[in-house]
Formats: sequence, C-alpha cells, structure tokens
Amino acid sequence: MLASRTTASANLKVAIVAVLLTAALYAGTFPLALYAFLRERRFGFATQGLGAWLSDQGKGLLVGALLQAILVTVVYVAIRKLPRLWWLAGAGIGVLFVIFVLAVAPVVVDPLFNTFRPLRDADLRARILKMARTRRIPADEVYEMDASRQSRHTNAYVAGLLGSQRIVLYDTLLERFAPREIEFVMAHEMGHYVLRHIWRSIVWATLAIVLGAFLVDRLARAAAARFPSIGAGSLESPASLPLLVLIASVLFVLLTPLANAYSRRLEREADRFGLELTRDPLAAASCFVKFARYDLGIFRVDPWVEAILYTHPSLGERIQAAREYARIHPEAPGAG
Ligand SMILES: [Zn+2]
Repeated sequence: MLASRTTASANLKVAIVAVLLTAALYAGTFPLALYAFLRERRFGFATQGLGAWLSDQGKGLLVGALLQAILVTVVYVAIRKLPRLWWLAGAGIGVLFVIFVLAVAPVVVDPLFNTFRPLRDADLRARILKMARTRRIPADEVYEMDASRQSRHTNAYVAGLLGSQRIVLYDTLLERFAPREIEFVMAHEMGHYVLRHIWRSIVWATLAIVLGAFLVDRLARAAAARFPSIGAGSLESPASLPLLVLIASVLFVLLTPLANAYSRRLEREADRFGLELTRDPLAAASCFVKFARYDLGIFRVDPWVEAILYTHPSLGERIQAAREYARIHPEAPGAG
C-alpha cells in the first residue's frame, strides 16, 4: 500500500514536471510562433484573427501537454524499473507516438481543429475513387477539409494506417485547381500510399529513435557525471527531464537534414508515380506553377538551403521532371 502510494506520487511528480516543461518550452517559443502567424497574415495567408489563432494554440497546447504528461510518465516508470535498458523502452514509446501521429491523430485529433466532410463535387469524387480503386487503395470516401478557416495555403494528403486511411483535400485547393490538376495532386498522394512511404518512414524513424534514445541515455549520464551542479545525478529524478529533452532536441536538429533528404526522395517517387498514373505532365507542371503562385513556393532554391531545410524538391526541379516525362512520352496529353 505504502509502496503503491509512493509510486503514484512519483508518477504524479513526473507528470507535473512534464506539463510545466511543456508550458515553459511553449512560452519560450511563443514569440517566434506569433511572429510566424503575423507574417502569414501580412502575406495574406492567415485567415484567422488573433483570437481564433490563440484559441487553436490553446487547444494544441492542451492536447500536447496531456500527451507529453502520459508519455514522459511512462518513460520514467521505465527508468525506475529498467535503469540500464530504459532507453529501449523509451524508444518503443517514441515509435508508438510516431504511429499515433500517423494513424490516430488524423482521425481523432485533426477534427478538433477542422471540419471534414465528404467531397461535395460528386463527379470529382467518383473520378478520384475510381483512380484509388485501380491502385487498390482501400478508401471509400474523399474528404474536403475547411483549411480556409486557418489559412489560404493549398494542400492534400492521404493519411492513416490499417483502416484509418483517408483522402483529404483542402477546400482552398478545390477552389483554385482544375479537375485535371486535382487528379494529379491525388495521384501524387496515392503514390505515397501505394509505394508504402508511410511504412518506410516508420522503419527509418524507428532506427533513428532507437539510436537516438541510446545516445540520449549515454550523453545524459556523461553530462550528469561531469556537471553535478545541474542536479540530474540520478536519471530517476524528474529533475533530469530538461537535460534529456535538451539532448534529444539537439540530436533531432542534427538529424533533420538527413530526414529531409529522405523526404525529398519520397516526394520525387510520388511525383513520378503521379505522372505515370495520370499520364498528364501538363496538369502536373500547371500544379507546380500554381503552388508557386498561391503558396509563394520558389522555383530555384540555393542547394544548401534545399539540402538542410526542404522536405520537397524545388518547384523548378519538379517541373523539369514533368517536362522530362513529356519528352519521353510524346503521346501524353500536353506533351510536345
Ligand atoms: Zn508528397
């Protein structure tokens, strides 16, 4: 009884520290988020007022703090029970979190921020579902999302795993893109699905998370031994949480260029898949021009900036790939 009460209060302590740290990190980065929002407004993208934006931020902070409190508490249980191998359990929790974001969040969390309803354009809906069926994508509905509630940016995605898959189109895209262009965008998204990009990303993320968790354990122990004054002498104490988060964040930043290079590679594959499925390089090129026009995407990016920060190839490169497809397939619509 006494033991269980001690455990319960240790868990509560960890959960409280996790919530406080989440709040502190949010407060620390808030000026940057506010600046980004105001800049989006200045360029005419943000459609929300400051009040609505703050309310979305508040919702996000609540969901985030709740999730962090649960995950961090479980990690510290692992640290207490498996002091040598906790990082392996921590990595397992990290992987579950990635799967949650990919499979559960689109169905459970996203509706907190936006409304999803079946695509109203019956003709377009039928064309997209027919395209999905030819590629054996188990989707029986196409959703439109009121993205214009927050911003004028255009996008579309296929999200979910194991039965939670859904095809989602932003209302902003529906408003500005012609049916042929929307079909190319959908074919690109289906490429991500058919080529198993979500699963491939999960495999790589798992390797990175296991290696990262191992390094966090080793580096945190080394730092705690070298600088006893930071009070993280024992990883069991929730006082070690800021140190663990700091080390994990540094590793995350160092890994980002690699993850982005992999993402650009998958995007190139999805573009190629989209071209082969629609055989419509003109619609593809026209999509990329519209991304430049409506989203201020840029055609040519400094190779270093692209290598470090870009999750997608530059629009110039993507248009070049569409032209190359047209050159090899002169019979395709819009080629020649
Ligand atoms: Zn993509």
